[in-house]
Amino acid sequence: MGKITFIDLSDNDATIQCVYFSKGNEVSRNDYLEIIGFIKKRSEKNFNSNEILGEIELDVESVTKLSKSTNMPIPTDTDGYEVNEDTRLRYRYLDLRRERLNRNLRLRSRLVHQLRQYLIEKDFIEVETPYLTKATMEGARNFIVPSRLNKGSYYALPQSPQQYKQLLMCSDINRYFQFAKCFRDEDLRADRGFEFTQLDLEMSYVKEADVMGTIEGMIKESLKQFDCELRLDGEGNFPVFDYKDAIKKFGADKFDLRQGKDKDNSKVLAFAWVVRFPFFKKVDKLDEAEVMDGKSGWTFTHNPFSRPIDECVDDHMNGKNIGGIYTTQYDLVCNGYEIGGGSIRAHTPEMLKATYKIMGYTDEEIEALVGHMIEAFESGCPPHGGIALGMDRLSMLIAGEKSLKEVIAFPMTASGKTAVMDAPGRLPKKDLKIYAE
Ligand code: ASP
Repeated sequence: MGKITFIDLSDNDATIQCVYFSKGNEVSRNDYLEIIGFIKKRSEKNFNSNEILGEIELDVESVTKLSKSTNMPIPTDTDGYEVNEDTRLRYRYLDLRRERLNRNLRLRSRLVHQLRQYLIEKDFIEVETPYLTKATMEGARNFIVPSRLNKGSYYALPQSPQQYKQLLMCSDINRYFQFAKCFRDEDLRADRGFEFTQLDLEMSYVKEADVMGTIEGMIKESLKQFDCELRLDGEGNFPVFDYKDAIKKFGADKFDLRQGKDKDNSKVLAFAWVVRFPFFKKVDKLDEAEVMDGKSGWTFTHNPFSRPIDECVDDHMNGKNIGGIYTTQYDLVCNGYEIGGGSIRAHTPEMLKATYKIMGYTDEEIEALVGHMIEAFESGCPPHGGIALGMDRLSMLIAGEKSLKEVIAFPMTASGKTAVMDAPGRLPKKDLKIYAE
């Protein structure tokens, strides 16, 4: 404005108006500045009640340009929903500047902090497990990584830390957790990439109710810190449904219990448990991973490492009445999404072998696939069970967002390309040679 330049100087918390008597208009929007000056109270008629710092301003002595912005491919002062998704992901570092996404990342960080604090206070131990490892079946294809040292051999990226967390129970860790990345090569859905983050945990000497109670307690306590309301049953708990009843009542095993005026209120979170799932299902011939996993025509519904419920142990051990075997699996749903799932595990060599026999594996194939687990159980292993919660989904619900991408810093595009960096990419032949046999 004439000789006076007004600069709105912002950081993550607030904006302050800076008043600058300048010669030219050399400062532009999105520049990064260091400004030195004096804070002054504004005259009352100039108070800006929309800003936290609206009653003061900075009388500028000097301005140093730390970084000049000459190119802004996308706007960052809108909510961003109007910008094409691939463009947002191409310039994700700018996209994250917008207030909404910046807030989502902070919310997610606070959530991780709350959950971690709760578990540590309950004597859980945070342990990291490897990402370069052997396949763990979770019903998807594996991502494989060629080994340079062992030419012609491959690691698999874990579909989950399932086997390592069970091995930690054999190590008497007793209460484990980890925020783990999982990698699953499955068909991409609108808002899903090939990797996601789980809060993964496992406990020794527990029954279903112990794991479910731990998770329920953790969620109730941790979510007090957020602007959301939990809908609980008459006793103040998450309601529990048998899988069969859930299908009858809602037509699906993930459902939305919000009713009436809560229906579209994203601040209301209605958690529920689903239990008593069939252990096995007939292989869907169109699903490549299921065809691979279920050699007998039967495959697991959730997790091959689960234990059947007590009444079904005999049938399980004898490979009888396969469709009628129920697992100790418990799934957690919220507002129509599956938020997590887990089970009590088979902790004897015989029971784990029986599961793979039902799926049509020979002794040799069982040995090759999970021989290390069987061997570990042969040294003695406490009964144990656990669960994993999807951190992307949980953060999305708490943030009141409709897409997982809004709570992941650098999500994948719908066509499986990474944000900002254009991967996967081709490698020169000479780089590939070092892996060849
Ligand atoms: N490994 C399971 C999953 O990723 C979770 C569990 O059973 O603990 O779904």
